[in-house]
Amino acid sequence: MIIGIDLGTTNSAVGIWRDGRAELIPNSLGAVLTPSAVSLTDDGELLVGLAARERQVTHPELSATAFKRYMGTSRITRLGRKEFLPEELSALLLRSLKADAEKALGETVTDAVITVPAYFNDKQRQATRRAGQLAGLKVERLLNEPTAAALAYGIHQKNADTRFLVFDLGGGTFDVSVLELFEGVIEVRASTGDNHLGGEDFNELLIDRFFNQHARALKLGSKQAEPHLYQKMRDQAERARRKLSTGPVAKMSVSWKNEAHELDVTEDDFAALAAPLLERLRTPVLRALRDSNIPVASLAEIVLVGGSTRMPVVRRAVTKMFGRFPAAQVNPDEAVALGAAVQAGLKARDSDLREVVLTDVCPYTLGIDIAERLPNGQLRLGIFAPIIERNTIVPASRERSFSAMDDHQRVVEFGVFQGESPNVAANIKLGQISIPLPPGGRARELAINCRFTYDINGLLEVELHVPQTGERRALVVMDSEAPMDPAELQKRREALAKLKVHPRDQEENRAALARGERCYEDSLGQRREFVQASIGRFLAVIETQDPRAIETAREQFLEELDAVEGQTFL
Ligand code: AMP
Repeated sequence: MIIGIDLGTTNSAVGIWRDGRAELIPNSLGAVLTPSAVSLTDDGELLVGLAARERQVTHPELSATAFKRYMGTSRITRLGRKEFLPEELSALLLRSLKADAEKALGETVTDAVITVPAYFNDKQRQATRRAGQLAGLKVERLLNEPTAAALAYGIHQKNADTRFLVFDLGGGTFDVSVLELFEGVIEVRASTGDNHLGGEDFNELLIDRFFNQHARALKLGSKQAEPHLYQKMRDQAERARRKLSTGPVAKMSVSWKNEAHELDVTEDDFAALAAPLLERLRTPVLRALRDSNIPVASLAEIVLVGGSTRMPVVRRAVTKMFGRFPAAQVNPDEAVALGAAVQAGLKARDSDLREVVLTDVCPYTLGIDIAERLPNGQLRLGIFAPIIERNTIVPASRERSFSAMDDHQRVVEFGVFQGESPNVAANIKLGQISIPLPPGGRARELAINCRFTYDINGLLEVELHVPQTGERRALVVMDSEAPMDPAELQKRREALAKLKVHPRDQEENRAALARGERCYEDSLGQRREFVQASIGRFLAVIETQDPRAIETAREQFLEELDAVEGQTFL
């Protein structure tokens, strides 16, 4: 069985293709969205999802969220005494999603389509693949999130040729893609974005406002000074921001060292704070339109995706930017996972989907480094010569011809780079290739042809050819499909497997208690006493080990917490 996974910064979701349609699979708590959070208990047991996200507030030193932002880097996250790479944290999350899907489906899941921001570079994509492998999944395909969203909106079912723009503002990334359905083929005409812009940045605005207001009373020089306090502020900022999606005012309330600190935020305050971030949404939109050569007027739909597009300030900014209302029939948090499920159906060659053809684009420019002789005779090194331009539809094969700098040169060497800077130093180096030149002192007369071939799975082949000598050299620079070294994979998988997973049948209790603990920390005075009594009552029923009684008590407990802080959110 192939599943489609939206591996999000904030939340993740799993979809499958069943009975001719895409559907989402609930996790062990019955929710379709699983917070992308990992936490260790004091006994070293692993928690993933809602319980882990709650513990981010009460136990930040044992919990991790938003690790997707660091995919492809070697940044280490310490949880207690254990250390994790971003891809290992993602692997733990994927492993949990896989287990949930297997439980809900009653069968083994072996393969997955995993979505990534269109803007992810090759390193980030490879890290995502490795995360899948570490979780014991064969990653059938990495699918760009906006492409997935377009599939969820049924672009492939439209009769007439059509174009639309997918505006995806998630927790940590912003992606804009222009897609075209032409003669039954879906093409991504352009993908741009900003992989450091999302809901979290809007949270930071509220955190800053809150902190500035209370810095003196808190006796702290920076908002990050106390991780615990920071998490509390973040949690309150998130709640306030969500509240502002449906109402005109919200309150942030943080208790710290037995004192309560509050801040009221109105819709207008928030709109004023958010203005610079809303402005930043324009650049990728303009670039996507320019790159795709598609005029705004010819777009059939503006599709909103990603939880942050629920914010009225964002919807207003989009409406203003395009001069019309965006489409939003599909829940913006679920579109990507549903689209991944459509893609999983395509992979499984479901007969209902046979007519859909999907193409993709190379999200960044690929090229080599060259040198140039300036009129004064000096050499200028490290100039980027693009061969496959950003947003070229893949698979693609392009060739450019170069020549040697010096007649007596016996070898030509090129670095292979990806990026958008004219100087290779600012781009990402992917590899190195060289080819010999014959002796004879006429090297500058030879044509050195350089061909780049990039396929749908992110595999790049670079080939050098000197027609006059018949020499050829080839290099596969990115083999994203290649599995990790089996011994290395096994070693890392075993290390992750050593983490004992908290018993899944107790997950709901665990999540409820984690929420109770956070709620306790966030309250003072009578509210705090009420929460403490409530936790005590629930713990007492858990002791009885009577499943029915525990379930009833849990519902009662959650209702009591709702009464204290409003309903929980995903
Ligand atoms: P995604 O990455 O698509 O799951 O989006 C997650 C982001 O959506 C987070 O930053 C959330 O704060 C944001 N989000 C989800 N629901 C809402 C809401 N009702 N109002 C404002 N932001 C929301």
